[in-house]
Amino acid sequence: METIRIPIIAGDGTGEDIWNASREIFEEAVIKSTGNAKKIEWIPVIAGLKALERNDHLLPGETVDAITDCALALKGPLTTPVGGGFRSVNVYLRQIFDLYVCMRPIHWFKGLPSPLKRPEAVDIIIFRENTEDLYRGIEWQAGTDDARTVINFLKDKMGVDLKPDSGIGVKPISRSGTQRFARWSIDAAIRMKRRVITIVHKGNIMKYTEGAFREWAYETAGTYKELSAGDVPDTIEVNDRIADNMFMQVISRPEDYDVLLCPNLNGDYLSDACAALIGGLGVAPGANFGDNVAIFEPTHGSAPKYAGKDIVNPTSFILSGAMLFDHIGLAGTGEMIRRGIERTIQEGIVTYDLARQFEGVKPVPCSEFGAEVLKRL
Ligand code: NAP
Repeated sequence: METIRIPIIAGDGTGEDIWNASREIFEEAVIKSTGNAKKIEWIPVIAGLKALERNDHLLPGETVDAITDCALALKGPLTTPVGGGFRSVNVYLRQIFDLYVCMRPIHWFKGLPSPLKRPEAVDIIIFRENTEDLYRGIEWQAGTDDARTVINFLKDKMGVDLKPDSGIGVKPISRSGTQRFARWSIDAAIRMKRRVITIVHKGNIMKYTEGAFREWAYETAGTYKELSAGDVPDTIEVNDRIADNMFMQVISRPEDYDVLLCPNLNGDYLSDACAALIGGLGVAPGANFGDNVAIFEPTHGSAPKYAGKDIVNPTSFILSGAMLFDHIGLAGTGEMIRRGIERTIQEGIVTYDLARQFEGVKPVPCSEFGAEVLKRL
């Protein structure tokens, strides 16, 4: 029996609840879908708060080594303090492994609640650039020497007058960063036989960052005709939308949207907004890809107020695991997991987040939902 080694970061807050509800589903699905030819060996590793408590380091070397060795990981949510405290380990992981594409499928299936009249129209893949933009976390706190230095530089050298008590952030978006992201995402969209690609940006206001993102993404799309004529479906359409309009469009005309290419921050906002169209963050999976490593994780965070209460929805995490199996060539395993989830939800077995969107549906705990999915594999 072949062993698939998968580093697992269970994560903070509700991470343990979700992991406990999901683990057996992954193990059973691999065994069943491969006819006993493969099994999983989990490699538990830590990051973030837990790592800080145990090792005094947010991202221990063993965690980095395990992920590098296996070229992948499954990851639960990690808490990041707001305001002060340490910077996001989620962002750090994306940066050190250079995971420049975040992919988040937003797919409604029968049984999921939705605020839309025709939720069946929602089948969108969000590709979010993952390493640049304000997410680089280059910023200086108001009132510090560093902030004053930047403010003085802007005044003296660039003629820009800012309030002296300003905090400052930097928004870098590069041609090379945008184009490698656009190429990866367009290649994936073509592989998945998608038909429309929409570049999302706020280029009317941020002309040299988001406006340039739009221009460079179009440039990349333009090279396909020259480079791979014949291989690319000639019906694929590339268009663009300004970000604020895009938020309205995904709600009012979701059927017109197929693949969205977003800069980092817009992609972050849009992912949660689109998740609301298909039931919420509890059912929204995701994956981060680089040239050497891929990390699979739900769109949601650690939802600390629910930690340890065994009530949150593990679906987003389980579906992220299904994406991992697709990635390593076990599409049958991914599909078996997705079918199991769909059947469970269609039978009205749902956690609190979905139950509250229906009338008269009693929620099941996180662990029970996992056990019901397991039965339906
Ligand atoms: P959050 O943890 O995603 O939670 C926001 C809300 O989403 C929850 O209050 C809950 O809604 C709903 N939700 C989240 N997970 C759910 C699940 N599994 N099932 C059902 N509903 C779920 O966002 P946050 O409260 O803004 O952030 C909390 C912490 O997570 C922060 O430290 C943040 O930095 C971190 N974070 C981590 C990641 C990551 O690890 N990649 C991503 C985002 C945020 P209701 O309250 O309506 O029930």
